[in-house]
Amino acid sequence: MICHMMETGQIRALSLLSGGLDSQLAICILKDQAVDVHGIAFDSPFFCIAAAEKAAVDLNIPLHVVNFTADIVSLLSNPKHGFGSCLNPCVDCHALMLRRAGELMEEIGCHFLSTGEVLNERPMSQNFENLAIVAKESGYADVIVRPLSAGLLPATRPEKEGWIDRSRLLSLAGRSRRSQFKLAEEYALKNYPSPAGGCRLTEPNYAKRLMDLRDHEGLHGVGSIMLLRFGRHFRLADKVKLIVGRNENDNVYLEGNAELYDIVLKIEEVPGPTGLMPLTSREDHVRLGAAICARYCDAPGDSEVTVRIRSSRGMGKIKVLPATPEQINHLRI
Ligand code: SF4
Repeated sequence: MICHMMETGQIRALSLLSGGLDSQLAICILKDQAVDVHGIAFDSPFFCIAAAEKAAVDLNIPLHVVNFTADIVSLLSNPKHGFGSCLNPCVDCHALMLRRAGELMEEIGCHFLSTGEVLNERPMSQNFENLAIVAKESGYADVIVRPLSAGLLPATRPEKEGWIDRSRLLSLAGRSRRSQFKLAEEYALKNYPSPAGGCRLTEPNYAKRLMDLRDHEGLHGVGSIMLLRFGRHFRLADKVKLIVGRNENDNVYLEGNAELYDIVLKIEEVPGPTGLMPLTSREDHVRLGAAICARYCDAPGDSEVTVRIRSSRGMGKIKVLPATPEQINHLRI
């Protein structure tokens, strides 16, 4: 096949790069055809770009990072295609990522988009029908190439026009990753995270906290979403949540972000956790919050504990008995 690139100069692709093996292989396959590949990675509180940054260096390609926070948050209320097993709106998320990638593709002058998607690797979100939906709803269906499964999918414009050679794209499908591991060896790819990790929206415990936040305080602002990663969380009332540090790392983060929840609870005299509550908490909520913090301090279970309470309204101290498991287990998020 005489490639268009030979006639008009180099073909350039913008490739979604999570840093996972599939996304790296897709890029290697295109680079084999002398395509000038740029990577695009999406940043949000739910997934990070560290693996993509590392992969971009290893693959020696430029990486464009797009802040995807507002986009993904907008999908968490009522995604058109629903959620996966947790709070992951994968079909809508992929479509929106490809839309954003398409916009960037036009901006930086790439010819087409590519992804590391593999047909039926995730039976729900990456089946034939959903791959077509994702492509269509992105608005860029005719220029999305999936190099790992292209042989099993309808030919796209880059293939039809000869920008790339379809016969050199792959026909992988299914959940087995044996072929990918073999290819990784051939391309000498060593650094890639396991496919399971990556998106917090697929983690049941995290999703539960996020759902609770969405349903009570709402998903306004990154700060309250970032706090979901730290500490133990207790729902005391609508719009009253207590966060209690589990370790020094949590305590430092909670104190450093206290402005978001404003009331800071600290155990006096014995080592213990930091607690955060909103300024709107009633007095009985603060007392319960203090008792819950006391439960996780080093004082014996039946002795009174002094808890310092600091907020923009001032400083105070109260004495509480540590809460019992029966009092608090049902409050745990
Ligand atoms: S796993 Fe997370 S990042 Fe990936 S498509 Fe689903 S929601 Fe989006």
